[in-house]
Amino acid sequence: MPDIRRTKASALVLNATYEPLCVVSVRRAAILVLSGKAVCVADGEGVLHSTRRALNVPLVIRLQRFVRVPYRTHVGLSRRAIFARDGGRCVYCAGPAETIDHVMPKSKGGGHHWENVVAACARCNHTKGDKTLNELGWRLPVQPSIPKGAVWRVLGHRVPDPRWAEWLAPAL
Ligand SMILES: [Zn+2]
Repeated sequence: MPDIRRTKASALVLNATYEPLCVVSVRRAAILVLSGKAVCVADGEGVLHSTRRALNVPLVIRLQRFVRVPYRTHVGLSRRAIFARDGGRCVYCAGPAETIDHVMPKSKGGGHHWENVVAACARCNHTKGDKTLNELGWRLPVQPSIPKGAVWRVLGHRVPDPRWAEWLAPAL
């Protein structure tokens, strides 16, 4: 039986509209459920015991009241988030991505921002080196952009629990 104070497991929080909102510790999720601010949508494994009652370990919870979030929330630029946006594939050859490429090389003034970074395989990245796409005659299949949508609040910084897939489906 997991101890609520020791478990490192986390729970996915959905807005009242079922939009993914954030990820919290199981302990925090349990408090939200026990205080009536959220309901459990899916149970994880095990049972938690509070002073007054037992509660299944929450895996996914949904807030009872809708929380308004800014339309455009900032999505942190991380390796994980870039790979997720680009589907884990090299944008140049569609092979498995292993590296992050700056489309306009940093040495030529290219910035480290969403519109200038893409997932790339080591081979394409190496071939590209400090050259521009024009110099190589390469083209991008799609212009890199800032990811939009609720799931990015969750996907940007951590490995999602595979059991959350159903609620994160639009982005995975
Ligand atoms: Zn490649």
